[in-house]
Amino acid sequence: DPRLQAIKAAIRVVPHFPKPGIMFNDITTLLLRPKVFKDAVEIFVDRYRDMNISAVAGVEARGFIFGTPLALALGAKFVPLRKPKKLPGEVISESYVLEYGTDSLEMHLGSVNRGERVIVIDDLVATGGTLCAAIKLLERVGADVIECACLIGLPKFKGGCWLHGKPVYVVVDCR
Ligand code: IMP
Repeated sequence: DPRLQAIKAAIRVVPHFPKPGIMFNDITTLLLRPKVFKDAVEIFVDRYRDMNISAVAGVEARGFIFGTPLALALGAKFVPLRKPKKLPGEVISESYVLEYGTDSLEMHLGSVNRGERVIVIDDLVATGGTLCAAIKLLERVGADVIECACLIGLPKFKGGCWLHGKPVYVVVDCR
């Protein structure tokens, strides 16, 4: 796919952010290039169109950036999966382990119904812990998670990998 080269080149890698030793893959530089941003969204749209997807669940915060245009293009609902205490309604919550400590994701009860076909989306998958928490949230309400989609992933996720029994689709490798 000729679009992948430009997508990869548009992602900035920032060494030692947010901590020493971490190579941060920064998608904000890709967002500054409308054609490349559009290509990235269209890769997801092409993959999930005609798959009867009724909801796109985006992981806060960068999953919102790719998830909302995907949802609009698919004619699907958009469901934000948020960090704790951000959603005002009744929520369910899943915690996951980080390198130091834990974090959690919350979803509004009633936003996704039993049997809905859902795509989970985020900018990047590293350990997969965040996506696993997202899948568990959706499964708790009886949703059918069709796939997890990420723009960027560690090489081990490229070419097909599974998290909590669900396929993971990655567009480009981390650098
Ligand atoms: P995981 O749970 O270890 O797979 O980490 C993925 C989560 O951390 C996602 O929500 C990402 O947005 C975030 N993340 C981890 N590393 C990076 C990075 O290099 N760039 C952008 N986000 C990152």
